[in-house]
Amino acid sequence: MKRTDIDKLIRENIKKLNPYSSARNEYTGIDAVLLDANENPNNTLYNRYPDPLQWKVKQRISEMKGISPEMMFLGNGSDEAIDLLIRAFCHPGKDNILSIDPTYGMYKVCADINEVEYNQILLREDFQLNMEMLFQKISKDTKLLFLCSPNNPTSNSFNTNDILELLNKFDGLLVLDEAYIDFSAQESLLKKLNEYENLVVLQTFSKAWGLAGIRLGMCFADRRVISVMNKIKFPYNVNNLTLKIVSEALGNVELKNKWIEEILSERERLSAELVKFHSIQNVYPSDANFLLVKVDSPHLVYNLLVNKKIIVRDRSKVSLCEGCLRITIGTKAENDLLLKTLEEKK
Ligand SMILES: *Cc1c(COP(=O)(O)O)cnc(C)c1O
Repeated sequence: MKRTDIDKLIRENIKKLNPYSSARNEYTGIDAVLLDANENPNNTLYNRYPDPLQWKVKQRISEMKGISPEMMFLGNGSDEAIDLLIRAFCHPGKDNILSIDPTYGMYKVCADINEVEYNQILLREDFQLNMEMLFQKISKDTKLLFLCSPNNPTSNSFNTNDILELLNKFDGLLVLDEAYIDFSAQESLLKKLNEYENLVVLQTFSKAWGLAGIRLGMCFADRRVISVMNKIKFPYNVNNLTLKIVSEALGNVELKNKWIEEILSERERLSAELVKFHSIQNVYPSDANFLLVKVDSPHLVYNLLVNKKIIVRDRSKVSLCEGCLRITIGTKAENDLLLKTLEEKK
């Protein structure tokens, strides 16, 4: 069991903060005459404020994942959790954040907005963690370590043993972004939450669940971490429309699983077809719902595809990704169109 002094990691002003208490926080019963929140009493289906802590949906997720609702934060995308973690734990101008390069851009953007020093360690050529360099860069003011596995845009998962070693030796919080875990051959580290008090796991409804438009992200962590996030979040951060749609989706897990299977099978097919092109140097092994593809002339290929209204992500300026495009796995028809368009260019 890895213990962490979470109380000591929290920013002083946040510890002292007197949070906003909403009407719905103070009274949680049902079937009452609600004259406490200055809502319109006429039923529009949406005239009431949402549950600030989303207990019903958390209960459903809890049953699915085997994690207690007290160890769960729901937010306006995972992005909200990233920002809240930085604001709760990092004192601007004093503390710092460590991450890797290349990775998801939001960690740095949120750090920059909050004026928190952000350091990144280049991945190895094989896209794995450079453990020696990471350990060298950790200082006593390093509060958060962001890792994304499977990583965006490199599409690989990191070695579990490396992540566990970091959890064992790092005294701040290790935030593991598992946005793509549903597509991965590796298991989620959610089951390690009870062993490591410094583990924070991010997951999302934006990818495998097909719900990027409703903006719902999940954060799983020690209840002291979750409680400080709940303390500083906007009172009604997840709206009733989102809660309604996600409840429906949670009632149809089979559909999500079917999509995952289809995407995985298309990933294999697309990957096998793409390597056949002479202009394509490499299709990196993917644990996610996208492929990182190294081509001879990324701008040429990008523009060719754009002219046919096929939009991919140009990652050729990103560290270690020279010449690379990032291609999301589409439907079978979309992937066929991509292949046909590339074929025409040959
Ligand atoms: C897509 C993605 C997310 C999802 O963010 P949401 O705000 O939940 O939509 C999180 N992390 C990474 C690395 C991603 O690529």
